[in-house]
Amino acid sequence: MKRYSAFAIAREALRQHTGWDRAWRKASPKKKYDVVIVGAGGHGLATAYYLGKNHGIRNVAILEKGWLGGGNTGRNTTIIRSNYLQDPSAAIYEKSRSLYETMSQDLNYNVMFSPRGVIMLAQTEHEVRGYRRTAHANALQGVETQFIGPEKVKELCPIINLDGPRYPVLGGLWQARGGTARHDAVAWGYARACSDMGMDIIQKCEVTGIRSEGGKVRGVSTSQGDIDCDKLGIVVAGHSGVLAKMAGFRLPIESVSLQALVSEPIKPCMDVVVMANTVHGYMSQSDKGEMVIGGGTDGYNNYTQRGSFHHIEETVRALVETFPMVSRLKMLRQWGGIVDVTGDRSPIISKTPLDGCFINCGWGTGGFKAIPGSGWATAEMIARNEPGPLAAAFGLERFREGRFIDESVAAGVAH
Ligand SMILES: Cc1cc2nc3c(=O)[nH]c(=O)nc-3n(C[C@H](O)[C@H](O)[C@H](O)COP(=O)(O)OP(=O)(O)OC[C@H]3O[C@@H](n4cnc5c(N)ncnc54)[C@H](O)[C@@H]3O)c2cc1C
Repeated sequence: MKRYSAFAIAREALRQHTGWDRAWRKASPKKKYDVVIVGAGGHGLATAYYLGKNHGIRNVAILEKGWLGGGNTGRNTTIIRSNYLQDPSAAIYEKSRSLYETMSQDLNYNVMFSPRGVIMLAQTEHEVRGYRRTAHANALQGVETQFIGPEKVKELCPIINLDGPRYPVLGGLWQARGGTARHDAVAWGYARACSDMGMDIIQKCEVTGIRSEGGKVRGVSTSQGDIDCDKLGIVVAGHSGVLAKMAGFRLPIESVSLQALVSEPIKPCMDVVVMANTVHGYMSQSDKGEMVIGGGTDGYNNYTQRGSFHHIEETVRALVETFPMVSRLKMLRQWGGIVDVTGDRSPIISKTPLDGCFINCGWGTGGFKAIPGSGWATAEMIARNEPGPLAAAFGLERFREGRFIDESVAAGVAH
């Protein structure tokens, strides 16, 4: 595959852009692979990429029932941060954040990583205590965060209203190296690199069954026929329960729609990401100028991928208190994605009761930031048949043993 570079752009400009390769090959399924990954979202593609890059396993297929990146990966509000409370979470999210810093160079694909900084607002005394505690925990974990006062919040984000009628801004947890990246580009960059390593990305290929023999995985049945494999990775976010059922086990997961919306584009007015957990809304400005606004999850389990009017109303009402200028914005589009939520708000990266079958899920409302770290850890588990240090705490057995990794504060707002 030809490398992308300034020189390549100049060369192609001179010949009407006729010399570019396809970013990834169109592939048809082979009879058998060493590893089949179900789900071509960010986590599935990153898993395949690190299987090839870190472990030399390249006879891999990634099966996607729709189009790659068309699930939550292409629907999220792209916030990247690693200010989690518990040690195993800080380790995997910080690994992920650090991989984002060099991802464009690593993949030779511009993922538009923008470490513009993330503030999580403290708007109650309870949040002040909670975020101070997180800042102390992060210091011990080697994650750079800081509790800042209201004046610093205002300096970083001049459009904010500190004296909201219900919830004045009392401070915030600031992670200067957090930020955003272009979500589609993350999926496309990994897909291009996987295809370049000879892996097959097969779109419009729905897995409809999982075949096993003597308690060991044999392969999958799909809308494009049966495919055999030695190892199977299930990485399907909101559909994890459906795939687990096919493999004969149950998951402690609920699937629910999470919604977001964007405004019309306006001039640059905000160069940080702000999350307001108490009023429940968060906002950043895209490079196009749209205000990207995240809302909440639906109050009931469902598989819809749509927005709804009452969510716009609730989210915008909450944000107007903190950002009065939002009241004058027109909203352009809204959408939803099916997220997979666990009881302790932490992911599952685990072996399963079916030998040779592994699962990565439970990232819920906050897994975009985790894509590279999660792919790294899941690839390591699949290659070695055992979870490595990054994944060890996230096994399914923690729900049986009561060893929860409680991240309900860090994941308090849907992001
Ligand atoms: C509105 C919204 C805002 C969000 N904001 C943020 C944020 O700001 N920051 C953050 O860190 N996270 C955020 N998230 C969460 C984040 O998007 C997800 O955690 C992450 O994208 C999950 O990636 P994934 O690869 O696991 O899943 P997905 O991208 O959903 O990929 C799973 C894929 O599996 C495929 N699939 C399902 N069933 C089958 C089958 N039977 N056969 C074949 N393929 C199948 C699906 O079609 C899908 O493409 C947000 C999510 C939403 C919905």
